[in-house]
Amino acid sequence: MSAIDTLPPLREVIATHQLSARKSLGQNFLLDLNLTAKIARQAGDLSDCDVLEIGPGPGGLTRGLLAEGARRILAIEKDPRCLPALSEIAEAYPGRLKVINGDALEIDPLAYLTPPIRIAANLPYNVGTELLVRWLTPPDWPPFWQSLTLMFQREVAERIVARPGSKAYGRLAILAQWRAEARIVLSLPPEAFTPPPKVSSAVVHLTALPEPRYPANAAILSRVVAAAFNQRRKMLRAALKGLAPDIEDRLTAAGIAPTERAEQVSLEAFCALARELDR
Ligand code: SAM
Repeated sequence: MSAIDTLPPLREVIATHQLSARKSLGQNFLLDLNLTAKIARQAGDLSDCDVLEIGPGPGGLTRGLLAEGARRILAIEKDPRCLPALSEIAEAYPGRLKVINGDALEIDPLAYLTPPIRIAANLPYNVGTELLVRWLTPPDWPPFWQSLTLMFQREVAERIVARPGSKAYGRLAILAQWRAEARIVLSLPPEAFTPPPKVSSAVVHLTALPEPRYPANAAILSRVVAAAFNQRRKMLRAALKGLAPDIEDRLTAAGIAPTERAEQVSLEAFCALARELDR
């Protein structure tokens, strides 16, 4: 019998530990272990990796990641009510699961992890987006992680993989595709979760590129795309005028028409503009 078989079904875990879902913590749990195993498989070969899991909840995805062979998992969970359920999993997989009770936005996980490191999470989407942007914008590259496998609302997932010219194209697409390969690998209907959220979800897998597709300073590129897409309907010469007094000349030097709108500008051109503004 494998370790996973000694653990009770997740519905039983939820009932035993009285884990009624809390909206304030974005709790929509995955209770189907076939599904959590499927998501874990999207994270790639885990056998020689440490995995950082954010928001394990009752541990469905955690079980999937362990069963898929993760060397060691560090799981950060904000809700203390989940800790007893997670301890049962840690006992079934001795030495392979460490749980920290806290806010993932405030904890530095690096002290606990040994490379290579992969990240996997089913998180409330606002926390997920904030962490994604942090993981994508360290000053230096490559980052501490090899890949990210993250659940998002379908609409947010589409913004991460969007191409120029589409409505979904914006800051997230630029930051994700500049230094990573991003794909939607799985779509999930609301009924996959307990309780079901209002909208569909999707799993996005991002693999860190060895180096950025085009050179640029991360902080400057972030500033440029934030300003450009904050006023996405305006021409860039207006949307970006706060960035440099001679922005029209800078845009032209980067090969971008000052009358262009952000939605039409490629990643390569945004990087050229960031370099131009860095001179
Ligand atoms: N991974 C579990 C699953 O798939 O069933 C739970 C997913 S549920 C959508 C999100 C989880 O993230 C909850 O357990 C919630 O308590 C936790 N969470 C919410 N905000 C958090 C934060 N800032 N840091 C760590 N965990 C957080």
